[in-house]
Amino acid sequence: MKIRTFMVGCALALALLLFAQHHEPSIQPSGFHAVMDLTHTINPQVPTYELTDKPVYQARTVATIDKDGYFARDISLPEHFGTHLDAPAHFARGMWTVDQIPPERLIAPLVILDVTTAPKSNPDYQVSVEDVANWEQAHGQMPENAVVIANTGWESRWNSPRDYRNADTKGVMHFPGYSLEAAKFLVEGRHVLGLGIDTLSIDYGPSKDFPVHQYTLSRSVYHLENVANLEHAPAASGMVVVSPMKLEGGSGSPVRIFALLR
Ligand SMILES: [Zn+2]
Repeated sequence: MKIRTFMVGCALALALLLFAQHHEPSIQPSGFHAVMDLTHTINPQVPTYELTDKPVYQARTVATIDKDGYFARDISLPEHFGTHLDAPAHFARGMWTVDQIPPERLIAPLVILDVTTAPKSNPDYQVSVEDVANWEQAHGQMPENAVVIANTGWESRWNSPRDYRNADTKGVMHFPGYSLEAAKFLVEGRHVLGLGIDTLSIDYGPSKDFPVHQYTLSRSVYHLENVANLEHAPAASGMVVVSPMKLEGGSGSPVRIFALLR
């Protein structure tokens, strides 16, 4: 009788243990609680900074399983297309091309600045030092050598290239970017490795001389533009993996960006 009670007890304990394990927040095979993809899918509908007559992205099937036994395509696209990285060489002569960015600068603490409110009434909003201060008030001082990405809410327009570019009758675009002051503070005060945003450019839409591009790229800080899925990305405590194509001599490249949640 005692052995039987013991066995039943063991079975119950095992069942409880399995139940508990099943309902614990799962750790994925990567060792992180979740891996989020901050990348837009590449297709012919991707909004572009420049307006062109013919589509700039082309994918041509060159082999099919039916005919050739395997499937393959040839693709052609600009370096700055979709979710992409600007290498320092994009604006600054003699600085790193995309293949030269040291890999240790491509994995970093991730900081997401929530600046979704202001652009609703002012599409030309520029991320300010105050936005950075607000983040630090909520989460403490930013880690050094982070990648900072601004969530301006502009992503909701992604599926309409017209609304995403938001050009006026003169062709001047209106979308949010970083102020030079905020960029300077993040580079000099917080030593960021990269700056990202969910719009076509780190400099706001109407910019003609791209002061933030000039300033940050000449200091070896790369850019991530058209970043996706920021709504659910963690404001603090995540890590980011930035994975551009290793294009020899490239000014930039489409990039795959992952947020790793601890
Ligand atoms: Zn770019």
